[in-house]
Formats: sequence, structure tokens, C-alpha cells
Amino acid sequence: MKGQSFLNPVKNRFLPLPRSATEGLEHEPNIGDFDVIKQLGVGSFGTVYLVSHKKTKGQYALKVIDKNLRENLEEKANFNREVEIMYKLNHPNIVKLYGHFEDDNCCYFLMQYIPKRSLFDIITIPGQAPNLKLIASVMKDLLSAVYYLHNMKPTIIHRDIKPENILLDDNSKAYLTDFGWSNYMTGQRRRQTVCGTPLYLPPEMVTHVGHDETVDIWCIGVLLFELITGNPPFEGMTFEAVRNNIAKLRISWPKVMDPDAKDLCSRILKLNGKDRLPIEQILGHNFRILENDFQVFQ
Ligand code: ADP
Repeated sequence: MKGQSFLNPVKNRFLPLPRSATEGLEHEPNIGDFDVIKQLGVGSFGTVYLVSHKKTKGQYALKVIDKNLRENLEEKANFNREVEIMYKLNHPNIVKLYGHFEDDNCCYFLMQYIPKRSLFDIITIPGQAPNLKLIASVMKDLLSAVYYLHNMKPTIIHRDIKPENILLDDNSKAYLTDFGWSNYMTGQRRRQTVCGTPLYLPPEMVTHVGHDETVDIWCIGVLLFELITGNPPFEGMTFEAVRNNIAKLRISWPKVMDPDAKDLCSRILKLNGKDRLPIEQILGHNFRILENDFQVFQ
């Protein structure tokens, strides 16, 4: 068959290949094409390495996912969607997927390398003054990325916005990554899957009433609160206690908090998604986390 010799011999393929590989225009990459420089991080589904392409010397972040851990059909469907969604995206604050390939044991995602660290590593330390300038620029970048996703046709919901999934480069430019939980929002049908991270779970997922793209706005509110105060807004000794506090909107406000910051967080963290401040209004809020150079509407 035309082009077959360009493909890796894989017994149980999880992902469709780009046409350039199936039509024999390019060979399907394999792990031997890369030198592994170092491990960058471990996520819930895979390990990410900094690699250099042997021929071109280009550097990439290579996410390696063990196929044996994701055998069932639902996992495969999620996987396919993650790849499909990432290929559709082209935004300066979203990590780019350049390619993917697989062998018998693993799937590999070849992504843009962001040479610094996740926001998780530099999140405000309790008791220390927050770096408002950095928070402002991260929020500006994040809101721009989320506005772009929500205005795609069909709308894309990220569903796992949290510090670990926001990477910063050397100029502190922020990039949203990890579309493992993302999905499309089609028509008026609300989605039911419970996903994301316990502390960032929106109330509609806790109470299983279905959700739409406003879950991302909730997570932005939780993130903003955590960046400003150093603690998440919903706490508890157990997962159950946290869920309960989320469902009842019992926010752990700190004793002292900038009144405008508090006002902004309380307008975003609303039980009903429809009541959450839309991105445009977050930008115009008195807290002025966002300077004048926000470019999302151009
Ligand atoms: P998972 O989907 O398995 O949860 P992630 O995509 O969250 O994996 O990646 C895990 C970690 O790897 C991140 O928290 C980050 O530290 C690092 N990482 C991921 N993508 C990149 C990238 N493009 N550039 C640099 N580091 C990355």
C-alpha cells in the first residue's frame, strides 16, 4: 500500500495520523529521531521530556503517554479529542502541538517547548505580598487564551484550568496547556463529565447538574483568588469537605484582602454559571488586573 513503509509498525493504533505520513510524504517520526535532554514534568497522564530533533536540532517538549494505562475506549476517545483540539488551536498564549506519533507502547505528542516553569512553582506564598504585576500579566494572557477557546466554532471548553497547566516563559508570558480534559460545547446541550482538579471543581460538577463553558470562568476565579491570597478559596480536611464548601459557596476569605480584588473574585465565583462575570467585564473591573494592552478583541 502507498506510503506504508513510512509508518511505524504499530499493532494497536490509538490515534489517526496526519495525511502527510499516511500518504508517504513524510515518514512518521519515532523516538529514535530525538535526543532526550531532560525530564520536564510528570502529569496525570504522562511524562514530558525536553528533546532535541537529531536532524534539525529543534527543541520540543515531548509528552509520552503509556498506552497500556489508557486501553479502554473512553480513554482512546479522550485522547483523540485532545489531539484534534490541539491541532485546531493557533493562539500566542496556547502551547502548540506540532505533531504526534506512536509505537506499540506509547503515544507521543510533540509540543512547543516553554523554557521556564509552571505557574504552580511560583504561586504566591502565604504571608508574602503577591506579585501583582506578574498576576496581572498572567491573567491577561490566560483570559486572552480562554476568550479565544470560547469563541471557537464550536466553542471549546478547557475544563482543567489550574496553576500546573499554565506555563511561563523567560519573559513571563503565559501559555495554557494540557487539553486532556477539554471538549466541545455544541448547541445548548450541557456536558456532564466530572473532570478537573478537586480544589478547582466548579459547583455544577460537584452537584452533577451539567456544565458549559462558564466552568472555565469559575476556574479563572479560583486561580485569581489563589494567586492573590496564596490559598485556594475552598478548603477542607477531606475531599468531601471541599466539595461541600464549593457546593455551598463557602469561600475562605482571608482577614485582609484588597476590597477591589475581593469584589472581583466574588463576582466570578458565583454558583450559577450565568451569573459569573464574562471575560470582557473581568477586564473592565476596578481591580484593574489588566492593563490597557489587552489584545483579545482585535
Ligand atoms: P498531563 O496531561 O499528563 O497531566 P501535562 O501536560 O500537565 O501532563 O504536563 C506535565 C508537566 O510537564 C507540566 O506541569 C509541566 O511542568 C511540564 N510541561 C508540559 N508541557 C510542557 C511544555 N510544552 N514545555 C515545558 N514544560 C512542559
